Amino acid sequence: MAGPLSAALLPDTAVLLDDDVVVGGVSLRALAREYGTPLFVYDEATLRARAHEAAAAFDDGVAFASKSFLCGAMARLVVEEGLCVDVATGGELDLVLRAGVSPQRVIVHGNNKSDEEVARAVQLGVHRFIVDSFYDVERLAALASSERPVNCLVRVTPGVEAHTHEFVRTGQADSKFGLSVANGDARRAIDELRTLAGIRVHGVHAHIGSQIFGLEGFAETIAILADFTRDDDFDELCVGGGLGVAYVEGESAPSITEWAREVRAALGASALPAATRLLAEPGRAIVAQAALTLYTVGAVKKVPQRTYLAVDGGMSDNPRPVLYGSGYEAFDVARPRAPRLQGVRLVGKHCESGDVIIDEAWLSDATTTGDLIATPVTGAYGYSMASNYNRAARPAVVFVRDGDARVVLRRETFDDLARLEP
Ligand SMILES: *Cc1c(COP(=O)(O)O)cnc(C)c1O
Repeated sequence: MAGPLSAALLPDTAVLLDDDVVVGGVSLRALAREYGTPLFVYDEATLRARAHEAAAAFDDGVAFASKSFLCGAMARLVVEEGLCVDVATGGELDLVLRAGVSPQRVIVHGNNKSDEEVARAVQLGVHRFIVDSFYDVERLAALASSERPVNCLVRVTPGVEAHTHEFVRTGQADSKFGLSVANGDARRAIDELRTLAGIRVHGVHAHIGSQIFGLEGFAETIAILADFTRDDDFDELCVGGGLGVAYVEGESAPSITEWAREVRAALGASALPAATRLLAEPGRAIVAQAALTLYTVGAVKKVPQRTYLAVDGGMSDNPRPVLYGSGYEAFDVARPRAPRLQGVRLVGKHCESGDVIIDEAWLSDATTTGDLIATPVTGAYGYSMASNYNRAARPAVVFVRDGDARVVLRRETFDDLARLEP
């Protein structure tokens, strides 16, 4: 059993009433009635607060990692709060440009950029191009010129093993990302780029992983990068993203401000000039806690071992439990202050036994078919990883703020899916 959900896992503006939860001044029960379920609800105040905190903590050297959650409204929001936007594919780039983001605010990543993606980035004159391989170096050599200069960072693998899930660990030398410091590839790439007209290397970039709670890995990374670039006269150093967030009761993560303080201290303790611009690329830490997902309970099935409670979504709107074994909490929206006495396995509606949202969820003992439940902290890597598995139509996304709700992504329809047929 578990107590009522603690407010720490909810968006900043959440208010628990006896029979409803209000976020951004809007009733979650009213949102479900108006827009249906499953539904992603983002609290705009939380998004803006985290983006603002990041911009302040890193002196404006922040790019939002758009892969964590992206739509036009989100791209505009982070730019309004003073952030740049990271993209890793032509699709992400296309979306942010359509949203009106200036190329001067765009940072282009990708471990396997297509020729078109490289050419587009060069032609647009994006803020920073992240060189990830010798393949990137080759193509920049062919495209860059003094008339079309390219501002680069070189992504390196510092050889730091972040303490997180293997699939989201990216700082070790054995990685598909970046160029190794240890084996000399990173140095060779920098030397080669420096011989090219029109290329300016501003510094190095490392992203050691995701959902990281311990800050030591970041400090260790800074120390290694500072040592590696000591004689380069670079003006920037990017520490990547990866700051973790709490998903379940009892977890706690450092704030963005604490993260920035730690990496800044590590930079200060290094031999690099004090004027070196410290850059960061948080994704999850900005969007995760800002959102929750609303579901309606359907089938309730009791077997001797347990009770299965099935909702109208599942791995198509939240693949993280399947991919990483990630934990979540759930609560009954009409009974948010009740103790959670009913232990269930919360599952989706897809044709997989593995379609589990929460292996051992605690809900009110009254929660049953037809009730509205919510899973908090679903703002990162939920919608952005959503699929049409079983031809599920992807949920709508609403932003709530000061008592108003606006649809930023409408619910997909079967017509939307049918449009792809020739
Ligand atoms: C995914 C990613 C990020 C963001 O990671 P979070 O864990 O969401 O903060 C930042 N930089 C790069 C290069 C990434 O691949």
